[in-house]
This record gives sequence, C-alpha cells and structure tokens, in this order.
Amino acid sequence: MTPDGPLADVYAGTLDCVHCGLCLSSCPTYRETGRETSSPRGRIYLMRGVAEGRIPLGAVEEEAWLCLGCRACETACPSGVRFGSLLEKTRASVPRRGWAGHLEAFALRRVVPHRRRLRLLVGALAAVQRLGLDALGARLLPRLRESQRLLPPIPPRAQRAPLPPRIPAEGARRGCVALLEGCVMPELFGPVNAATARVLTRNGFDVVVPEGQGCCGALQAHAGDASLAAGLAERNLRAFAAARVDAVVVNSAGCGAALREYGDWLGAPGAELAGRVRDVCEFLDEVGLAAPPGRLEARVCYDDPCHLLHGQGVGEAPRRLLAAIPGLELVPHDDAAACCGAAGTYNLTQPEMSRAVLARKLASLAAAAPDVIASGNPGCLMQLRAGALGAGLRARVAHPVELLDEAGVAGRERP
Ligand code: SF4
Ligand code: SF4
Repeated sequence: MTPDGPLADVYAGTLDCVHCGLCLSSCPTYRETGRETSSPRGRIYLMRGVAEGRIPLGAVEEEAWLCLGCRACETACPSGVRFGSLLEKTRASVPRRGWAGHLEAFALRRVVPHRRRLRLLVGALAAVQRLGLDALGARLLPRLRESQRLLPPIPPRAQRAPLPPRIPAEGARRGCVALLEGCVMPELFGPVNAATARVLTRNGFDVVVPEGQGCCGALQAHAGDASLAAGLAERNLRAFAAARVDAVVVNSAGCGAALREYGDWLGAPGAELAGRVRDVCEFLDEVGLAAPPGRLEARVCYDDPCHLLHGQGVGEAPRRLLAAIPGLELVPHDDAAACCGAAGTYNLTQPEMSRAVLARKLASLAAAAPDVIASGNPGCLMQLRAGALGAGLRARVAHPVELLDEAGVAGRERP
C-alpha cells in the first residue's frame, strides 16, 4: 500500500519489524510497565498504523516521548529495525508540548549550540552553586529539584578553558588524531577532555582540536529537530574536513553515535567523516594501549552508555582497557547493558520513569559494591553520580579515560 498518513516517511522502516518480540525483554519501558504499547514492537505498530492512516497521530505521541531512545531494541532485533531513526522522525511530527517542550526547544536552539552563551550560563550556575543558592532554589521551587540533583559540581573556570589547538605526542610518535570537544563536555567535564588528550598524547598521538567545531546535533536530533541537527553537523564537517588525521576521536558516547550518523544526515561528505570517527576507548583498544605505568587499586564497575553499546557497537574495548590497568579489579554487574535513564533530557522531562529505570541499575551496582563506576558519556556520568549519591553508594563515578589517566600519572609519580 502507499502510506498517506502523517508518518509516511517512517512507513518503510516499520515494515522491517516481523513482530517476533525478541526486543521486549531488553526494553526498559516495557520492563517497567509490561505494556505492549510501551515496547519497541508496540511503538512500531503505532507508527505504522499512523502512517497507514488507521490510527490518529495523537495516539503515538505519549509513547514517542516515553521511549528513552536507548536503542537497546536495535541490538536485540534480528531483523535490522533502525528504531532510533524511526523514533526521531516520529518525534518530529509530535513535538513535545507544554513548558518542558518550550524550555527544551529554547535550550537546544538558543543555548547549547552557542559556546559563549553556554559558557555564560554555566559560569552563572557555578556562582549559584558556590553560594549554595541551587539548594535554596530547589527547596523553594520543586520543579528545580531534579535539575539541582543532577547537575554535578561545576569545575573551576581554569578547567573549563578550551584545549590548545595542537598538543604534541609524548615519546615516539605513532600518529595524529582530531578530538571533538563537544558542547557540554568542556563546560561540565573539562577534566575528562583534558584527561583524554593526555592519554592520547602519552600513547604517542598528536592531538589536534580543530577550530570552528561545536555541538554535534545529537540532542537536537533526538528531540526531532532534524534540520537544526543537520546544520550543526555541517559546521563540524567544515571544521574536521581539513584535519589530516588518523581518526576523529570522541569521548562522549552520544556525540560519537551522532557523528557516525552524519552520512544519513549529510550524504557522502558526512559518511566520509563518519567513517573516521572512533570512540576514545575503541581507538586506544584498536591501536594498542601502551601499558599504564602506574597502579590503581580499585574495584571498578563499567556501565555501558547506550549510545556506545547499542549506537556504536562498542562494549568490550572499554572493559579491556580498564582491565589492563595494574591493580584495577573489573567487577561485572547485572544491569550494565541497560539504560541508566539519563537519555539526553529524559531525566528532566520524564523523571518518574527515569528514576524507575535507574533504580534497577543502582540495585545491581549496590550488589557489586564497586569503588568506582565508570561510564563514557556525560549524561550517564551525571545520572549515575546523582543516583549513587542518592542511594548512599560509596562509589565515585568517572569516565574510563580518567582512570587511564590516573594510572598514567601514578606511574610518573613513582620514584
Ligand atoms: S529505544 Fe529503548 S526505550 Fe525505546 S523502544 Fe527501544 S529499547 Fe525501548
Ligand atoms: S526484535 Fe525487531 S523484528 Fe522483532 S519485534 Fe522487536 S523490532 Fe520487531
């Protein structure tokens, strides 16, 4: 049939689903609700029904936004359904409504892609944190509680400075990589970017940080704003096109997954850039990590970011790197591959489901009793940190490259 409903552009993709149900047990919202409509198969059925004109568009709205966009269903699906793409196209037809929708659209259009504005905002938030006004605000305005709980301590200004445009390799030079700084990463996780550059240079790679790069467009794409996402991707394409490097290295799983989709967003030039993208752990694992010279005595649970495991198919590389650190004990936990409930802005817009999803993971982490929870995505780091604090876990939360960096520094400090 020729689809003529509002979701005609997702119709062909929905036909890939053979209704086998193999994805159901890996879907966090299905696990929580037990409802077919809150499962991948149920959502695809709704999308297809809308596309065929059998179901009104409004019927898919709630489920389009209750879905975490974690893409665990893609990993489980034997039929190759590209659920993330179907979801983004569906969301474009049912934009988020109300104050949350307006606020999200404003932040994703007017603040996040503009580095100076984001920097000003984060600077103001840092002052608010220093004065303790964030806790006061959260007490007075319940709507602020979730954001206050999730926002990590903002690093001092010096640690939020942009990285130098070129950082030379240490020792024997093995190659040259370009680093994506990202939008949120330098502001809230500047030390992770610095640690990434140190680990790469210690492993023999020149690191270039191309000027003109910026926000990757992932959050905008997940929110259904494909044209803004493509515009941001074009900016990165221009910035990275001229860099003569072995790889474009990314330390944020959400950004890496987005860059790897630039071919879908921008055609052949985007595909060329996408082909050079590597997550930092994947890259170090591929080229062979120089053995960290220092020890790190810690029990570490690695927790898979969805957009690294399901979006990029990278799961073993971070574990291999961590296991290579002398003294580090890598401890498995049962819920590592499931979403933590962060999912971009999901933990702010769907706080109840986000907390329910996180609770399973925290129970699994509590049973494993790690000293450190490691994960490679800023949203996951924030969610896990806030969750661990709230649950009284004594574990700190860190990016895997921070642990590699700490082991490197520890080795240098040895007499
Ligand atoms: S993306 Fe995640 S939450 Fe959404 S349907 Fe797939 S598994 Fe479920
Ligand atoms: S596993 Fe794939 S084909 Fe099977 S129901 Fe889920 S989405 Fe459809």
